[in-house]
Amino acid sequence: MKPPPTVHLTPGKRVLFLTKDPDLIRRQLAGELDLTMDDLTVDDLLDDINTDVMTPAWVCFNHRPEDLAREAYAGLIVDGERLFERDALYNGGFEVIVSGHRKGVGSSRETAVQAEKWSGVRIAVAASFAPIHAANNINQGVLMTDHEILRRLQAGEGVPLEEFYRDYDPITQLIVRQGGLFPLAKALARKEIEWPADETAERPMTMAEKILARHALGGGDRFVKPGDSLVVEVDGGYSHEFTTAQVQYFLEQEYGADYQIENAARFAVFEDHLIYADEVPMMLPFMDKIERLRELQVSFQRHTEVRDFSARDGISPGICHEVAREVLISPGDFIQATDSHTCMGGCNNALAWGVGATEYANLIHSGFTMAEVPESIRFELVGHLPEGVTAKDLMLYILLEFARPQVTLKRVMEFTGPGIATLSMDERATLTNMATECSARGAIVEADDETFRWVKKRRPEIDESELRARAVRADPGAHYDGGVHTIDLSSIRPMVAHPGDPDHGIPSDPTNGALVEEVEDVAIDIAYGGSCTAGKIDDRIFYHQVVKEAADAGLSVADGVVFLIQVGSESVERFCRENGFMETFAKAGVTVIQPGCGACIGCGPGVSERDDQVTVSAINRNYKGRSGPGRLYLASPLTVAASAFTGRITAYREGMFQREQPRTT
Ligand code: SF4
Repeated sequence: MKPPPTVHLTPGKRVLFLTKDPDLIRRQLAGELDLTMDDLTVDDLLDDINTDVMTPAWVCFNHRPEDLAREAYAGLIVDGERLFERDALYNGGFEVIVSGHRKGVGSSRETAVQAEKWSGVRIAVAASFAPIHAANNINQGVLMTDHEILRRLQAGEGVPLEEFYRDYDPITQLIVRQGGLFPLAKALARKEIEWPADETAERPMTMAEKILARHALGGGDRFVKPGDSLVVEVDGGYSHEFTTAQVQYFLEQEYGADYQIENAARFAVFEDHLIYADEVPMMLPFMDKIERLRELQVSFQRHTEVRDFSARDGISPGICHEVAREVLISPGDFIQATDSHTCMGGCNNALAWGVGATEYANLIHSGFTMAEVPESIRFELVGHLPEGVTAKDLMLYILLEFARPQVTLKRVMEFTGPGIATLSMDERATLTNMATECSARGAIVEADDETFRWVKKRRPEIDESELRARAVRADPGAHYDGGVHTIDLSSIRPMVAHPGDPDHGIPSDPTNGALVEEVEDVAIDIAYGGSCTAGKIDDRIFYHQVVKEAADAGLSVADGVVFLIQVGSESVERFCRENGFMETFAKAGVTVIQPGCGACIGCGPGVSERDDQVTVSAINRNYKGRSGPGRLYLASPLTVAASAFTGRITAYREGMFQREQPRTT
């Protein structure tokens, strides 16, 4: 529905403030309290509300938005209890929801927006929004604004609609004015609106700008700059069993059961996220819904004939982002998929970011999407990482130093410099994978000979000269709104991100970086090495390096600790078998799990079961509740493996397990 030209609050409808004080939220939900902006400051409001809190994984087993809404904010747990009971938001009569900074961090799940919208919320208020979450609000027709405009609305003022969108690019303005992405697409099809024309003069461009310029309709040799609005051709994309059912639902709702999609061979479905859900006791009540999601993905794949990466005999071919970089993504590509870690594909010198189900449904239907050219930030890497330090430590450092002060926010992170050549393709993939934790738009690594060799090895049919021709490199003099930052890799030390104290206003967040040596003596219960971030071949090499050293010293995994290693794809598993890793892992008491997402999303072996458990994990997110109720520290594969044998969070040092030799006199 199109929003009115002047926005008023509706008499009888309410405003919900998500305060740091949980009791105030409880009283608002109970109907005992109504607040205004005059009663609070922005500092009183919850920051960094992540989408896992708004709609935890188990809530997303409902693919119909009206069902999701009934469990809105089910992941907001205080002292072990749900703050929002079932139907609390749905029955609360709220049309505005208010929080602090960076609303909607975390996964790209559009369900978070749907849960609010189908509960009656039409305006979201925050000091800032995570980029994918903001796009999801816009695509769903939910207005976003700040606390000052809310103050005016609560004073009874009518606020012109323009004030809700005037800072957006022209395309986004059109989407807001039409009431969402599908209404805009239909208005365009009916030729009711004109597309805004952007004519940017010749200028030096960043890598992301070059890829978007090349893919823009009417492209040719055009130039673009941040803020330009483009209609962009998409080279490929994918969805997985957690999201495909919604994509199908929206396509059927908008275009009928006989909908068609463009260029099916460029797109794919994966079965990876829920493949081991039946091994998690908490998930057992949802197995019927999970099975339904699988069935709906199968019917979508048959209907559309997109590429099929379904499980065979219960074994997944791998995590979508790992398989996609192996077999789908080439230098110079523009890739869109329904998952926030789609950005991982940037390691192949591609531009890739995650989108919600609405945007994905729209782009596979038409073959095109709409994009605002993002700003960029450039990291020039020099030197070598020291022994015992990995790309994960570098990324935890960047999260602390650049993402925490929001320098990376909404920008494309460009990785260049001579230090790139010292990082394998798998290590580069760790950097691009965690761009979404930086609330960045994406990340892209400059291509070199290793890029082309790696892609060609996995896709021998590709003409290498074509790969080289499609690769992009920033122009000399390209402008970086986020600045150019030189990082000396030799200065990086083993890092963790600690779990914070969410019950007392310190969010669990990947930006909670600290040196391992600074972390207090933390005993662990679970060590987990897996996920798209840390399920690659080089991660296996790191785990194996530590496990072999420990096993050779006669050690097993520490008493009371479980150490699980989960491979990212079939090809990673094959590598482990061919190189004898499985025997070493078995000898030292490590449990190896077949490809898939698993514990990372709370749907597989390795999740914590009690809130007093501590996990050290090589995954990308430490949001409370995502991987079970316990406290989760993020760390590198080396730190995870070393900690599994010491029983405490410990940085790896070569030779650390060697027995002391008896002294001779
Ligand atoms: S491994 Fe985790 S972060 Fe990666 S795609 Fe799967 S659920 Fe998402």
